[in-house]
Amino acid sequence: VQEKLRATDRMVSLGTLAAGVAHELNNPISYVLSNLRFAVDELSEETEAGRPLSLDQLKEVHQALREALEGGERMRNIVRDLRSFSRREDERFGPVDIHAVLDSCASLARSEIRHRAQLVKEYGEIPRVLGNESRLGQLFLNLLVNAAQAIPEGDAKTNHVRLTTASVDEAWVVISVQDTGVGIPPENLQRLFKPFFTTKPVGVGTGLGLSICHGIVTAMGGRIEVSSEVGKGTTFRVFMPVAEKSVQPAAEPKSA
Ligand code: ADP
Ligand code: MG
Repeated sequence: VQEKLRATDRMVSLGTLAAGVAHELNNPISYVLSNLRFAVDELSEETEAGRPLSLDQLKEVHQALREALEGGERMRNIVRDLRSFSRREDERFGPVDIHAVLDSCASLARSEIRHRAQLVKEYGEIPRVLGNESRLGQLFLNLLVNAAQAIPEGDAKTNHVRLTTASVDEAWVVISVQDTGVGIPPENLQRLFKPFFTTKPVGVGTGLGLSICHGIVTAMGGRIEVSSEVGKGTTFRVFMPVAEKSVQPAAEPKSA
C-alpha cells in the first residue's frame, strides 16, 4: 500500500508540474524563435541583394542571437532540472548514512561555496535514516547550492553555510542547512516550494530545485521546513525517519 501511495504522490506532483512546464517552456521558445527569425530575415535580405551588413545591422543581428542563446540556456536548465523528476534509476529505500551523503554533496558544491562562505559541519551522533541515497543526495545538493547562491560572492570569511545533524527522538533525525545569506521575505515563504518560483536571473535559476526537494522528502515520509530572516540568513530543516526504528514494529512480539 505504501508503495502505491508513493507512486500516486509522484504522479500528483508531476501533474502539477506538467501544467507549469508547458507555460514555462513556451516563453523561452517564443523568445528564441522570434530572435532567430529576425536574424535570419536580416541576413537573407542582404545576402540576396549581395550586400554586406552595415555595422548597425550587425549589432542588431548580434543582439538577437545573444538573446536567442539566453532563451536556449533557459530551456536547457528547465529540461535538466526536470530530468531529475523522471529519473527512475534506483528507487529502493534502505538505511542511509546521512553524513556520507552530506560529505559528498559538500564536495560537489565546493566550487559554488568556496568564494562565498566557510562550510561548517556540525554532525551529531545519529542513526541511519530510511530513504533512498541518491534522492537524498539530490535533496541536499539542491539545498547547499541554494544556500551558496544566497550569499554574495567575496565575503567568504564572514559568511558560513552550516550543516547540522541531530536526533529529534528515537524515530526522527533532523538535518539542517543554514546560511548567512540574503534571507527570504515573508511573502515569498509560501511560494518557495512551488514549481518555477524563482528570484534568480535567467540562466541561473529555474525555480524547480525546492519543488523537487519537497517531492523527494515527502516521498520518503519526511518533512521539510524553512525559517528565514531577511538580511540574516535562512535555515532549511529536513526531518527523516530513523531506519532501524522503522523496521522494528514488525519484529516486536505482540503482547496481549
Ligand atoms: P532556483 O534556485 O532555481 O531559483 P529553487 O526552487 O531552488 O529555485 O529556489 C526558489 C527560490 O527560493 C530561489 O530563487 C530563492 O529566491 C529562494 N531561496 C531558496 N533557497 C534560499 C536560501 N537559502 N536563501 C535565500 N533564498 C532562497
Ligand atoms: Mg535552487
